[in-house]
Amino acid sequence: MVERGRFAPSPTGELHLGNARTALLSWLWARAAGGSYLLRVEDLDAPRVRPGLAEQQLDELRWLGLDWDGEPVRQSTRADAYDAAIARLGEHVYECFCSRAEIAAASAPHAPSDEGPRYPGTCRALTRAEREERRRIRAPALRLRVPDGAIAFEDELAGPQSFDVQAQVGDFVLRRADGVHAYQLAVVVDDAESRVTQVLRGADLLPSTARQLILYQLLGCPAPRWAHAPLVLSASGERLAKRDRSASLAALRAGGQDPAAVVARLARISGLQPLGSPRELLAGFTLAMVPRAPVRVSEEP
Ligand code: GLU
Repeated sequence: MVERGRFAPSPTGELHLGNARTALLSWLWARAAGGSYLLRVEDLDAPRVRPGLAEQQLDELRWLGLDWDGEPVRQSTRADAYDAAIARLGEHVYECFCSRAEIAAASAPHAPSDEGPRYPGTCRALTRAEREERRRIRAPALRLRVPDGAIAFEDELAGPQSFDVQAQVGDFVLRRADGVHAYQLAVVVDDAESRVTQVLRGADLLPSTARQLILYQLLGCPAPRWAHAPLVLSASGERLAKRDRSASLAALRAGGQDPAAVVARLARISGLQPLGSPRELLAGFTLAMVPRAPVRVSEEP
């Protein structure tokens, strides 16, 4: 099988060393297997997208010495494909008329997931008449009927995983009331259509994976292998955020950094030889080299 990897940045904040490390490792994983490598611009959330940032991000990836096959896919052009997938999901999808405040008030005290409070299923069993009545007042979001029980999968870096999506998140949103498709749906539709076989991304997306696996199963598409890389922390041990200008590729570049020094620094924190070009790092690369615990970027370049 020909391996196909990808990197999928969101043009909502500048790429920082953590994103660059994800890009480098996902490129190495795909290219070391002789596979292809795709780029996707995750620009679904129009109000948060910064004009020109997608082009800047692609330029920064080239600056680091990464390459990809074909033109990057832009999610903002793919609404029809997402709606077609929703249509294929048929009875597994239902309309939800709840506001955020109603969900917060109705959900039992529970640690919120990355999607906010667990959705308690309020609109799951509305009758046709009830839906018609509510539609006159409010546009519905679309949610997936999530099966009960734990979803298990093996992560190539994080090891065996198990998530009970219904208990932790509930029926999650596929399309918001304002018509914007959810990341969980878009990522599955795009990766499946691009025949991606391997997804390496940050460990912050590990809990999302079970939601995505449910969608792969319901859509009847083969799921990729996943590898979630431990997060890159700042020198003081905090999570790198989009606001950490010192760790942004744009700031390093503007400060006259040599891309080879940046690549060597990323390689060093990833358990690899501190070599300055992605191509040089390919020889002998395996995921087994990558540390399983969060790593810190050092202050020095
Ligand atoms: N767009 C997401 C991000 O920038 C990555 C999504 C993914 O790799 O599945 O965090």
